[in-house]
Formats: sequence, C-alpha cells, structure tokens
Amino acid sequence: MPTLIPLATSTKAHLVELFVSVQGEGPWVGERQLFVRFLGCNLDCLYCDAPETKTKQPTCRVEREPGTWEFDYLPNPFSLDALQTLVHGLAEPTDIHSIAITGGEPLLHHKFLAEWIPMLRNEGYRTYLETSGELDERMAKVAEWVDFCAMDIKLPSSSGERPMWAEHRRFLAVCREHEIPTFAKAVVGANSTFEEIEETARLAAEVWPEVVLVLQPVTPFGAVTEAPTVAQMLGFQAVALRLHRNVRIIPQTHKMLGAL
Ligand code: SF4
Repeated sequence: MPTLIPLATSTKAHLVELFVSVQGEGPWVGERQLFVRFLGCNLDCLYCDAPETKTKQPTCRVEREPGTWEFDYLPNPFSLDALQTLVHGLAEPTDIHSIAITGGEPLLHHKFLAEWIPMLRNEGYRTYLETSGELDERMAKVAEWVDFCAMDIKLPSSSGERPMWAEHRRFLAVCREHEIPTFAKAVVGANSTFEEIEETARLAAEVWPEVVLVLQPVTPFGAVTEAPTVAQMLGFQAVALRLHRNVRIIPQTHKMLGAL
C-alpha cells in the first residue's frame, strides 16, 4: 500500500539522516559518500530496508563526526541553508566521491532538489541520486544537475509492487538523454522468474544498450526471509546476457562490512 508522501516545499524538506559511509551497491561500490536520506516513499517494497522513511519523523539524525556513528537529533523540516550547513560540517567536496541523495524516494522532493542540487554543484560537490526509477517526469526536472544515477527496476516477484516497465523505460530514457552515468538495478528474490529477468534485460538493451544492469540478490530483511541461491543468480545472469551486453551480479556489500 502506498506510504506517506511527506510535506515537501521548494524551500523545506523533511529528512531522516545524514552520515558518511561507503556506497554498498552497484558499480560505484566502495566510494566514500555523504548520505542524505529524505523522508517518504510512494512505494512499499517487501524488502525495504529503510522503513523509517515511511513514518513522519520529528527529527533527523545527523552524524557528529564522519565515521563515528554518533548522532545529534535535529528538528524537521530543513531549509536549504540549514541543510547546506550540515553538509559543510560533514564533508568538503574533496573528502568524498559524491553526495548520495537517497530515501525513501528523494524525487518526492523534486522542487527542493531543483534548488539544492545546483547549489551543491556550484560548491564543487557531485551528486549521486538513488531512486526507485519510476517518477520520470520529476526526474526530468532535476536531471540536468545530477552527476550519477542509481535507478531501480522493480520486479513484482521481489518487491511485491505492480509491474512498472513503462515507467522504468521512460525514466532510463531521461537518464540517457541527459547522459547521466547510470546503472539500473533489479533486486532479485528467491521467487523471481526468468520472464521478469528477460523483460528487465530487454528494457535496458532497447533504451540504453551501454547501461550497466545490476542483478542484486535480495538481502533478507523484514518480511523477506529467503535470498536466491548462487545457482539461481548465475542462471538469471546468463538469461539476461543473451539480451543485454552488460549484466553484473553485485550484492549489497555495505551489509557485509557492517556499515550503515
Ligand atoms: S522504493 Fe526504496 S524506500 Fe521505497 S519502499 Fe521500495 S525499497 Fe523502500
């Protein structure tokens, strides 16, 4: 069932947390980032590991010093200037690869992002947008300033969501049009099917033949208790490679590391 859409204006946004860690997914795995997690999501994936983004949070937790995991709790919502002060306190542009703009679904805050991301650019920060990859019209409004994009392709078998192939196609097309270094990620479950993987690979091949497609085995969490086997993953990759040239299997490495 769709969850909370947060209060979001062009000048204020509700946040969940800010902290420094390493990117744990996809081809930029291991890069040091400042994570800025926005409140709210329009989806309700079974494997969601950020359920706190779906409940209104009176405060946002902000790491005191990078890497300490000690937090101060500051009241929501945040103005652009207030957020920028927090960013400056945690990382200079040269300290990190990029700022991971995550959620929840950060594009629910597209008006705020349309003002904040150019600000970051002007100061020399690069931005890495993590998104469910289906709000293409909102993406089009901020795409010109996004430096990297990690977009999902939701498989109904693992997410429990409806099929969103058309939305994902349009979203990936926006990323291609703006030449944003992008990867498409499908979280694969123990019950995922070859048909879904074929549809995913076909989508990638037809919209952007060079895009990296990541098959990410689901990490059991919440209602999800089972992960696909290695044999299953290799079978899915083989099927996908028949349709798309760049298909990688990459699990969530930050969880192996025990990082946030
Ligand atoms: S899109 Fe992401 S944040 Fe939203 S429910 Fe799914 S996994 Fe959770």
